[in-house]
Amino acid sequence: MISIASPLLGAEEKDAIFQVLLSGQLAQGARVAAFEQCFAEICGVEEAVAVSSGTAALHLALLAHGVGPGDEVITTAFSFAATANVILLVGATPVFVDIEPDTYTIDPASVERAITPRTKAMIPVHLYGHPCNMERLCQLAATHKLAVIEDACQAHIASIDRKPVGSFGTGCFSFYATKNMTTGEGGMVTTNDPAIAERVRLLRSHGQQEHYKHHVLGYNLRMTELQAALGLVQLEKLKGFTERRIAHATFLTQQLQGMVQTPVTRPGCSHVFHQYTICVPGNRDEWVNQLRERGIGTGVHYPLPIYRQPFYQQNLGKYRCISETAGEAWLPVTEAAARQVLSLPVHPALSEEDLATVAREVLRLCN
Ligand SMILES: *Cc1c(COP(=O)(O)O)cnc(C)c1O
Repeated sequence: MISIASPLLGAEEKDAIFQVLLSGQLAQGARVAAFEQCFAEICGVEEAVAVSSGTAALHLALLAHGVGPGDEVITTAFSFAATANVILLVGATPVFVDIEPDTYTIDPASVERAITPRTKAMIPVHLYGHPCNMERLCQLAATHKLAVIEDACQAHIASIDRKPVGSFGTGCFSFYATKNMTTGEGGMVTTNDPAIAERVRLLRSHGQQEHYKHHVLGYNLRMTELQAALGLVQLEKLKGFTERRIAHATFLTQQLQGMVQTPVTRPGCSHVFHQYTICVPGNRDEWVNQLRERGIGTGVHYPLPIYRQPFYQQNLGKYRCISETAGEAWLPVTEAAARQVLSLPVHPALSEEDLATVAREVLRLCN
């Protein structure tokens, strides 16, 4: 079976973990600090703060920007549920707007129409590794004094005109096992604002600056030395991993172009292909089954817009959808994408033979 995702771990990771075990320092220490510094450098930001997951990064970023009850946060419903869940977790109101039909990222014109006096922040998601239109979004944020919290959980070292994602606003990254680099579980907040970095540092560790002195009410969302040791090794390999993802995507697009809707990359953007996602005609379940029978794993990211998730359907008053279709409680482009998208294997562990098989079998289904 050709899997849809597979972490690439080698002898370097094994050695790094072994060194941590030998050191006896398992909880947050010098390796976490080193990982933060290296990550800040590749993102071109002043500060990076390591946390326990991408979800923790988003949650603490919202808290650090002072987002809470009574505030609205504009985001996309075409993402992993964590993007919106953190807005509910801080007591604010998610406001879902529609996406662009080709990049599947949040539509800046829809964001603009959704802004109210209560809007405090926006969470654009660099979905599948393609950067959002940050120029337009940052202009809107500046005009309306909104915080920009980038969900870059799928977009490590993606960039616009060579400026890395996570450096436009407050960046939130995930190192979950299937992401472009991994620490098993883990996350990072990136920022050029020392006050935001300081608040995230306090909140991740029970408000402590020094041991047993609690300045604010916080959490325990720290990263361990084991995770940071993995992160340092994976970060060294990230550029190579990413080049392979891009080469794989380029091959697939060469093979499939004109037969199905293949991913687009906007001018100036570097797309890092966390997913290679096509839009299939007809019955998607049929495609999933046929490809599985031929030994190809696929993924659907995501089958349900977040507002259709059972929890959201049970809590209709706690969020809003701002549709371009007057009076509708759903988002048409998001709905269509959720029905038809299909992610094909593109990860760096694939062989040339695997890729040729993927292309051949997808083409067979097109005919
Ligand atoms: C993975 C992911 C998250 C959450 O990251 P975790 O590390 O799993 O908590 C949030 N948003 C998006 C878009 C993701 O892909």
